[in-house]
Amino acid sequence: PDGAVHLTLDHDFATAVPELALPWRAAEAPEPRLVVLNDALARELGLDPDELRSPDGVRLLVGAAVPAGARPVAQGYAGHQFGGFSPRLGDGRALLLGELTTPDGEVCDLHLKGSGRTPFSRGGDGFAALGPMLREHLVSEGMHALGVPTTRSLAVVATGRPVQRDAVEPGGLLARVAASHLRVGSFQYARTSDDPALLRRLADHAIARHQPHLAGTPDRYAGLYAAVVAAQARLVARWVLLGFVHGVMNTDNMTISGETIDYGPCAFVDGYDPGAVFSSIDTGGRYALGNQPAVAQWNLARFAEALLPLLDDDQERAIARATELLGTFPGEYVAAWASGMRAKLGLAEPAAGGPTDEETLALAEGWQGILASGRVDWTSSFRALAEAARGNPERIRGMVLDLPELDAWLERWRALGPDPAAMDRANPVYVPRNHLVEEALAAAQDGDLAPTERLLEALAAPYDERPGLERFAEPSPDGLEGYRTFC
Ligand code: AMP
Ligand code: MG
Ligand code: MG
Repeated sequence: PDGAVHLTLDHDFATAVPELALPWRAAEAPEPRLVVLNDALARELGLDPDELRSPDGVRLLVGAAVPAGARPVAQGYAGHQFGGFSPRLGDGRALLLGELTTPDGEVCDLHLKGSGRTPFSRGGDGFAALGPMLREHLVSEGMHALGVPTTRSLAVVATGRPVQRDAVEPGGLLARVAASHLRVGSFQYARTSDDPALLRRLADHAIARHQPHLAGTPDRYAGLYAAVVAAQARLVARWVLLGFVHGVMNTDNMTISGETIDYGPCAFVDGYDPGAVFSSIDTGGRYALGNQPAVAQWNLARFAEALLPLLDDDQERAIARATELLGTFPGEYVAAWASGMRAKLGLAEPAAGGPTDEETLALAEGWQGILASGRVDWTSSFRALAEAARGNPERIRGMVLDLPELDAWLERWRALGPDPAAMDRANPVYVPRNHLVEEALAAAQDGDLAPTERLLEALAAPYDERPGLERFAEPSPDGLEGYRTFC
């Protein structure tokens, strides 16, 4: 009765932790129109893109048609936002439709963002503007192609409902796919409810989803915590290596899966600056590029606090255990970052005769100092370095002001035997630069999707330099001083 889309959704989250799952339905979209569909992702999920394009498919993508057996819910979660704790956030404009099992046997969430008010909406209207949903589509798909763990975007639909922001804007809705939508804030919500059995059910559900090998083992909650610490350390190292500023690393935006989630006021730096901030609301620079590892560790401390009752019956021992596990974060982060930086610089791992982590950090510090002092474009500088490794230092010499310092650094680096082909595999040519994303969104706002489609094409193979895409490889011609993003 609900149309021709063949899709079975489970509701394991709602069953495991009904306290965090309010049954809810999407608001009606007056005039839904499919704006982008991710055909490749649809196929990976075992869905037929043609079915999704049909009127019934679009009804599914806006939550108007619910697959038989599915139980859509608004998820409850809490969170520290810019350091202040909110005990009740939750899906104020989103719904979990349910869990889908792919043909490969992977379980993932199918989620709608921009689907209308819920009991968690507080003062918000429950809707999303089309521009920010398209931004999430572009940037999350770009991140995926870059190899960064992330939620995916299946589709963006224009709802036909205008939404009031600074101006009146067209409404949009994003159909999102994630390993799960469990967040640090989900655990904070359960912990705040003061129900140890609920906290335990949530943790066991997270273990079943993300660390199934730990299921039923006596020390599984410490194992879950350690796995999240390691996954987040690796994730944030990838962000920093790419010059990606998430922009709003609140604990409700930090996943248990280790995927990047909630692309709001995010941006990639052009000129390298560890203090780079783009969000209009991050006036203190809490979530600046170089602050992200420290913030991740702070968030993980909040996660530990939520888990304490599960770590040990004796709370002093629980605290000692959590402290010990959290203490692994800096080492995990440095190891991931140093390994990633060796790859970017074309250098071997220590076991294969490459520099140690400490040597890598010292070498990178010199390089980053050169980039920071001239606000040199982060992304393209590494491709220019690869050319230098091939014996053509002209391009990088044209980007940097302090040539004696550069030449001294190049000599030091070349002595380590950088492999330019490996560098080209590790350093993207195309990233979702802010001015390109803005340009695509502005055109889409006027009904022209060609720039969005061209940008998606460039981003789909970010390491593969192709003729005709030169302008997608370049920093903003106007610079990004004062560039601000809004959620
Ligand atoms: P975010 O910063 O997008 O991760 O959202 C933080 C919190 O604000 C979440 O609980 C969201 O559901 C809620 N929220 C954001 N925008 C809206 C909106 N337009 N209407 C209702 N709730 C919203
Ligand atoms: Mg899984
Ligand atoms: Mg969020």
